[in-house]
Amino acid sequence: MNDAELQAWIERISQESFGIPFRHRARFNPRLRSTGGRYFLKSHDIEINPHQLEANGLDEVEKIIKHELCHYHLHLQKRGYQHRDPEFKALLAKVGGSRFCSHLPTTVKPKRRVEPYRYELRCERCGTSYKRKRRMDPRKYACGKCRGRLELFLLKTT
Ligand SMILES: [Zn+2]
Ligand SMILES: [Zn+2]
Repeated sequence: MNDAELQAWIERISQESFGIPFRHRARFNPRLRSTGGRYFLKSHDIEINPHQLEANGLDEVEKIIKHELCHYHLHLQKRGYQHRDPEFKALLAKVGGSRFCSHLPTTVKPKRRVEPYRYELRCERCGTSYKRKRRMDPRKYACGKCRGRLELFLLKTT
């Protein structure tokens, strides 16, 4: 597929799924590595990663195109065109665009393990509880609310 065919494809998707014409330029950009596509706020052009076509096929690229067209049409209509905007989310769901942000790197950073709370300090007087990740000596601390004595409990972790 060349740029002219991509252009025609995007124009057709725009017409069929959005009912509005795509009036700007579309092109393949082989330098795109980590993103499936890009929409340019200034020029209103759309770039598509040709490697996506080889790796994931026509259906996947069509979803990426729909995702970029959501940015395109909402931006031109001066509506919420960013990922966090409800209008964007609603339009994306309606046309069946790629839910995954095609601007984000495809390699996902491993999540840092969140340490669980293992201990609870509870105030004997007012009952306020304080969750702690590390063991603490309750005799060294007092309740932050009433200065009452604290008792240490071990929490079950799942
Ligand atoms: Zn996007
Ligand atoms: Zn207290």
